[in-house]
Amino acid sequence: MSSRTNEELICKLRDTHALTEEEYGALIETRTAADAELLAAYAVQARKKIYGNDVYVRGLIECTNICKNNCYYCGIRRDNPHADRYRLTGEEILTACKKGYELGFRTFVLQGGEDAYFSDAVLCDIVASIKENHPDCAVTLSLGERERESYLALYRAGADRYLLRHETADRAHYEKLHPKEMSFDRRMRCLNDLREIGYQVGCGFMVGSPDQTPGTLAKDLKFVETFRPDMCGIGPFIPHHETPFCDRRAGTVKLTCFLLSILRLIHPPILLPATTALGTIDPRGRERGILAGANVVMPNLSPLAVRKKYDLYDNKICTGEESAECRTCLETRMQSIGYRIVTCRGDIIKT
Ligand code: SAH
Repeated sequence: MSSRTNEELICKLRDTHALTEEEYGALIETRTAADAELLAAYAVQARKKIYGNDVYVRGLIECTNICKNNCYYCGIRRDNPHADRYRLTGEEILTACKKGYELGFRTFVLQGGEDAYFSDAVLCDIVASIKENHPDCAVTLSLGERERESYLALYRAGADRYLLRHETADRAHYEKLHPKEMSFDRRMRCLNDLREIGYQVGCGFMVGSPDQTPGTLAKDLKFVETFRPDMCGIGPFIPHHETPFCDRRAGTVKLTCFLLSILRLIHPPILLPATTALGTIDPRGRERGILAGANVVMPNLSPLAVRKKYDLYDNKICTGEESAECRTCLETRMQSIGYRIVTCRGDIIKT
């Protein structure tokens, strides 16, 4: 165990961008409100040096809620018979992008369940069309695990970035969150494949997922420190009533913000979203995320008719508004804390 005080650990992290796994664990376990405040101040300082007061924005298009997987935490898991399944057509996705472009989005994130309908041929076609219509935009995919050849084909079709949360860097914990047909090694292999192919890669995890401990979180942080992803998506776990984890406790805003600050100091240029899940458990969750060191928001660009159906967890916000309203709402929220949403692709600025 480390004999350093938390203040010393925070300064070490600020100066060296690294702690030992034991130190990450101890800092999380013994954290105080004063620690969180100090950490957030350094995190904001680090982010301001690179990104100023700019917040990047991504238009999230939820392509499909059909999924072959059965993750215990997720509302669109295969075995939820009450999920009202849908998938968007290529045309609907292109229309959402067009609308998004007019609203100032220069990154589109295509997210969805693992739906076999979105074969390489179908997806490559969609990606190529988006890039053709909007050559100044980035396309991010977040469609789960695929073969290396598939990731390669999509990259060649024009996809720039891929988000694949690792969910937890602890093997035993991974096995508690997923049925046995899912594999920790495969998930990690996918992340390595994506990196090798040349994507800007995002990993990430839920905060407060069942059986998570300071020890498993320490492994997540060590993983981010060594993998050095371009992006890292974290948000609180929120139970969904139709899943095996329906009566487990949700994660907290405080711990999510604490971890956002640590992630910012581990890798200062990292792109860190203040997520919808964070906005769901606290009406000012996304603002609090930005004030802890996040620098990205991802308003919903999905057609209104499907918003409620992309139901990963209970009480998800932003399911009743048009894209333009979501965008304006976030702009106002960011302005209220002294930040501004910028119209650009929002690539990582490597220092
Ligand atoms: N099929 C894709 C996209 C999954 S949805 C993939 O496998 O990457 C995006 C993220 O939502 C997941 O990676 C998970 O971390 C998060 N998520 C799912 N269920 C959740 C819940 N109940 N609470 C909070 N986040 C959840």
